[in-house]
Parts: sequence; structure tokens; C-alpha cells
Amino acid sequence: MKSLIKKAEESHFLSKPEIIRLLEDNSINDELFRAADRVRKKFVGDEIHLRALIEFSNICSRNCFYCGVRAENKNIERYRLMPDEIIQLARNALSSGYKTIVLQSAEDMYYTAEMLADIIKEIKKNDTAVTLSIGERSYEEYKILKDAGADRFLLRIETTDKELYRKLHPNMSFENRIRCLKDLKKLGYETGTGCLVGLPDQTTNSLADDILFFKELDADMVGLGPLIPHKDTPLKDVKADGFWLSLKVLALTRLLLPDINIPATTAMETIHPDGRILALQSGANVVMPNVTDEFHRSQYEIYPGKKSVDYTKLEEKFKQIGRTISQNKGFRPICPLSLNPSPAGRGNNKAKALRKNMTPQEKKLWSILRNKNFYGYKFKRQHPIWKYIVDFVCIEKRLIIELDGSGHNFARTKTYDKQRTQYFESRGFTVIRFWNNEIDNNIEGVAQQILLSLRERAGRGGNK
Ligand code: SF4
Repeated sequence: MKSLIKKAEESHFLSKPEIIRLLEDNSINDELFRAADRVRKKFVGDEIHLRALIEFSNICSRNCFYCGVRAENKNIERYRLMPDEIIQLARNALSSGYKTIVLQSAEDMYYTAEMLADIIKEIKKNDTAVTLSIGERSYEEYKILKDAGADRFLLRIETTDKELYRKLHPNMSFENRIRCLKDLKKLGYETGTGCLVGLPDQTTNSLADDILFFKELDADMVGLGPLIPHKDTPLKDVKADGFWLSLKVLALTRLLLPDINIPATTAMETIHPDGRILALQSGANVVMPNVTDEFHRSQYEIYPGKKSVDYTKLEEKFKQIGRTISQNKGFRPICPLSLNPSPAGRGNNKAKALRKNMTPQEKKLWSILRNKNFYGYKFKRQHPIWKYIVDFVCIEKRLIIELDGSGHNFARTKTYDKQRTQYFESRGFTVIRFWNNEIDNNIEGVAQQILLSLRERAGRGGNK
């Protein structure tokens, strides 16, 4: 089992059966949590990003079985904050030093995209990032909100087990949920998803699918936590014993998606007195203090006993575990899998120029790889990764393809190529290289070799 943890720590890949084995073996928990903590430190550092959470409406059109805010619950008082109240709460948070505002609500269609766009624009007059968590909307609405300046969007899949999803979400569609997540990615949001752990009939098989789903989506954030049953929901009698399993899912998520943002959720703290700190020591790097006024905060009761965070005591607590509060907005590092973001402007401009001036061999190979033509695999060309620009990359399979002209025969260039390759391999990529004359004279052989490499990657933990 230890070798599996080592494999995950070094390659950031595990197959589904391997994930299940780790989820089911509790004798390795401490080792798993420590490995996730090392990966967190290596890829996203010791800083904790604080996101100020504003819960602006608990009026919901949905009836999720686990949620206290569900439309059919007649035992809670409903509220809806007006735009000027939301903006004022955001201003208060910003003046306290927060760098990100999270606007969260139940699925309340009272707020049109245009209305929310005006709120976002007003908040974005300050130097802040804005995250939305408002549920399912159309592509056009997501676009209006993105154009208004929203940076991130959280939409948990909750479970990738379609049958379980259908049981727990009356009149909702799993396919539409996926559509929403794909739209958000397409529009350039930093996209967050996540799952609930401890649902009735949920298996380690389906939790492994959840983790692989986060990876397949290339989620930028993953928020997860244990089910805490609410007395006014159909799941009121379910046992709340998902804490340790949640922590394991969190740790595995960190191992497999090393550079993303992962919150230590309030649900973790609510169900275990040290839950937040344990999550921060098992892969998490984000905390979301609730800055909604106390009266409304207590009415946003998606689960009972929600713990508040005392901002003034946070810094001291974090210091005790060797962590600091970040002074920036905490975006996912620009280059995949790297703590040291590439100098964005420079790298991206150079990449753009290279894309415009492709060699004939690059053009020839690109005509095969583009638009998912190559067996459905998605490739990018002239793509910046840390300080390098790679010729072609399939991010999903962590496969880099480099084309070499005769210049790569010089000793100095060979050393440089070797260093590049070592760097990529240390980040879980495989690099394959072709000479230009192979592209000219044997493109079929090149294609065959690329396919073999992709399939080999799949065998080592991909799920295609
Ligand atoms: S989980 Fe969200 S969408 Fe579902 S009932 Fe609760 S607030 Fe509404």
C-alpha cells in the first residue's frame, strides 16, 4: 500500500482499483495524509487563501434530499438580500483584507444574470477576485456573468454515480450538471466542483469515480465534505460518520491534482472539533470564512450546526501549523502542475508568436492532432508550461510531443533538452520526441507511436 502512496505522490496518477484499495485500507491513513501534505507544500506552498463567503439567498427552487434549504422544507425562514446589501457586505470584507469574495446562494432565479452582473461589476471596482456559487444556469447566463468580471465558479457534482444522483436530486439532470461544468470551463472560469461523502448507498467505487472525474474535468478547485444530516430532510436518519472518509478523498484528490485549490470546508469543522486543521494538514489550502451577517447566516442552514470562523484567531491557528495567510487572490498557478507560475505575459506572448509561425512539420502533425481528431484526445500546441513552451501536449494524459530539427544535435542543446525532459517527468509528464524527417517521411509511424504512448498513459492511471 505504501508503494501506491509513493506512486501517487510521484506521478499523480492512480488507476481506479488503486484508489479503491487506498480508500478501503484504513491502516495507511496517516501515511496518506502526510503524503498529501507534502504534495500540497510542494505545489501550492504554505499559504492559506481566505475567501470571504456571502450567502445572499436561501430561497431555492430545488429539493436536494440532503439539504436543509430545499424548497419543501417549511421550517426555515427564507431571506433574500438586495444588491446594495450584498455589495455592502463585500465592501466590509474587502476592507478587512479579503482578496476574494464568494457570492453563494440557493438556486434562486429572482436574481437574473443581468442583476448579478451589476453586483459583480460593482464589487470588481475593487482589487478582488469574485467567485460565484449560484447553481445551474444557461451558457448565455454564465457568459454574462463572466463578461461582468466573475473569475471562478463553484458547482459541486455531489456524486458521479448517476443512479444515486437521480435519487437525491428530484427533477434535476446529471447530464445538465455536466453540461454546466463544461460550459464554465469553456468560458474560462476557474471551475470548482466536489462531492458529498457519506451518502446512503455511496460506495468506494463511486468515490473513486468522483476523484477521477475531478481529474478528467481538470477542476481548478475541489470542495468536499461529509454528509451532515438535517432533521427536515429525507436523509434525516442517516448516520453522520463520513469525516475520515472525506479526509481520505481530500488527500487523494490532492495527490492526483497537485496544483489545485482545495478548501478545508466548514462541514469538516462542524463534524469534527479539529476538522479544519486536519483538512489543512491533509492537502487543503483554502478557508472560506462566512462574512454574511449573523442573522442571515444562521438561516442558510444547508446542514445543522454550521461552525463559524473567527477571523481574528485564524492567523494564530495557522501559524501553529506552519502556515501563513496569503496576501494575493490565490488563483491556480498558471502553468499546470507548477508552484512557480510562468511569467504569464512573456510565456503566453511567445507561445502566441510560435503558434503563428509553425514549421511545415509542426503544421503536418497538428493537422492530425487538432480538434480532438486523434482518437478523441485533446492536444494543445505551443503551450507554456512553467518557463518552457512545449510543441504539443495532451494535458489529460500528461503527454508532451516535441519535434526536433538538426539544431537539437548540438551538445549544448542536448543538455538543455535533457533538463527540460527531467523537469516535465518530475511533474508526471512523459515526453516523446520526433525528428523533422520522421514527420516528413513516416507520419504513419509517428502517429502509431503517439497512440501507443497515449494508451500506455491510460494504462498507468488514465481512464480512457
Ligand atoms: S443543495 Fe443547493 S440546489 Fe439543492 S436544495 Fe440545497 S441550496 Fe437548493
